[in-house]
Amino acid sequence: MNCRNCGTNLSLVVCDLVSAPLSNAYIAEAELIKPEIYYPLCLYICNQCWLMQIEDYNKAHEIFGDTYRYYSSFSTLWLNHASKYVKMIISRLNLNNTSKVMEIASNDGYLLQYFKMDGIPCFGVDPAEGPAQKANDMGIETIVSFFNLDMAAEIVKLKGRQDLIIGNNVLAHVPDINNFVAGLEISLSSHGTITMEFPHLMELIGQTQFDTIYHEHYSYLLLATVESIFKKHGLRIYDVEKVFTHGGSLRIYACHADDKSHPTLLSVELIISEERSQGLFQIQTYHDFQRRVNKIRSRFLQFLIEQRMAGKRIVAYGAAAKGNTLLNYCGVKGTEFIEYVADASPFKQGFYLPGSRIPIVEPHRIFLDKPDFIIIFPWNIKNEIITQLEGIREWGGKFIIPIPELEVIDA
Ligand SMILES: [Zn+2]
Repeated sequence: MNCRNCGTNLSLVVCDLVSAPLSNAYIAEAELIKPEIYYPLCLYICNQCWLMQIEDYNKAHEIFGDTYRYYSSFSTLWLNHASKYVKMIISRLNLNNTSKVMEIASNDGYLLQYFKMDGIPCFGVDPAEGPAQKANDMGIETIVSFFNLDMAAEIVKLKGRQDLIIGNNVLAHVPDINNFVAGLEISLSSHGTITMEFPHLMELIGQTQFDTIYHEHYSYLLLATVESIFKKHGLRIYDVEKVFTHGGSLRIYACHADDKSHPTLLSVELIISEERSQGLFQIQTYHDFQRRVNKIRSRFLQFLIEQRMAGKRIVAYGAAAKGNTLLNYCGVKGTEFIEYVADASPFKQGFYLPGSRIPIVEPHRIFLDKPDFIIIFPWNIKNEIITQLEGIREWGGKFIIPIPELEVIDA
């Protein structure tokens, strides 16, 4: 396998999670009698450009097509994050009703709705039909497609070049990152800005967030790597900030390389220096990762076994992709250890988790069953979940956060 960015042969394995089905391939009741496809899940690092990556066994359309069940609007925290961003960027870039805004991976219109409220022209591009349909129904124009260089050329013909291009949690999800970034470049107006958010590889390594490794995430990104890819395509990152979503992400601001209206701020060099001081451009930093992952696995299994032997009831909350990576790597299957996973999204309820085949139910079930422990899979939004479920205190229920170290939290 060669690096998807620079073509270097990849021989350095950071973490081998053996194999798993696609993390978002929830199973309908009627499909439980059918087999599931498991794909290898092995993480490599490129010692030339430091792009961490998995092999793309599955075509993107299998992942993000008509069975994609992730609707951004079901997280209040994520909606607040989007609304705050929109307010900030409108003021920072002086956007008005003559500006042009495009969001890539716009999902169900969770973010663009705030531009629309402010009367700023905008549209989205997203390949997942269900969420895109919901956005269109809300009056947010959404082109149902992947974004790539060819599609970008089509969009420029149709809509012109954009003053602001937004992409949250999409850069890590594209198999051909060079083609994608080339598409961004031709879509951007001469003084336009691109903002992108992606989980920071520095946090993944530092916090052993191995459950964020799944087939939908082709790439795991450092600022230095993204900067060099953008540079290759005539774009310059002029600012960057840390945002606290997905366990620690970066939000980059980019423009055309020769655009003098956006001087490069010190933040860019500061974060790259931090990556350097954390040893992320040295191969030995990555050597210990698998051992730490295995320790988390052993501790999690030990907890499940001990509590079940003691007759305790365990359920989980949040049918997130993260939980699937954890369960599949730990080999937890069926309902012996974890009776079900509750999730607020009606698009997931009634389905089963891929691999483990644990049923997904309505959150209300927790209050009927009064389990002893509730494992929170999407630990990145644990505070939101703990607040929603504080009623479990009534019967002495406790929360469990498995990563980076198993933590028991009293309600
Ligand atoms: Zn490379």
